[in-house]
Amino acid sequence: MNPAYANQHKGDKLLERFSAEEISLGVAINATGKRVTPVRLDVLKALVQAKRLLSIKEIVEKVADGHDLSTIYRTLETLISVGLVTKTEMGKTLYEANIGKPHHHHAICTSCGYTEDVDVCISNLSLKNLGTRRFSAINGHNLEFFGLCKKCAIITA
Ligand SMILES: [Zn+2]
Ligand SMILES: [Zn+2]
Ligand SMILES: [Zn+2]
Repeated sequence: MNPAYANQHKGDKLLERFSAEEISLGVAINATGKRVTPVRLDVLKALVQAKRLLSIKEIVEKVADGHDLSTIYRTLETLISVGLVTKTEMGKTLYEANIGKPHHHHAICTSCGYTEDVDVCISNLSLKNLGTRRFSAINGHNLEFFGLCKKCAIITA
């Protein structure tokens, strides 16, 4: 068989195997200059599908194929280094997919650690109202909201 045709054919087969979501995530990885590997794709997919922040333990549980903790850890560091994943310290280290997400903050359950994105931001307020005396400009901020998730609120009620 003509080798060029064989490659073309293999490409078609690959496309059949992957969902539209996996292909778009693969494109996102590729755009950073990193190679698309199954474990990178799996980790990113787990984070995107979770729609919330995940601990490394939760990621390991969601990513099948028996990747060990150190492989997942290295994969996360790679994805963080190219900006596809964000790492947040909130008592424990949590990871979040950073694809197509604008700047945002989190609400955190103080009982179980469940987190959710919130779209309230301090930049909605006038920074003039901060009342600083020795600052000429404010360039960034950190903002977290604490409370009880619905599940924990029922347990503690
Ligand atoms: Zn909770
Ligand atoms: Zn978030
Ligand atoms: Zn903000």
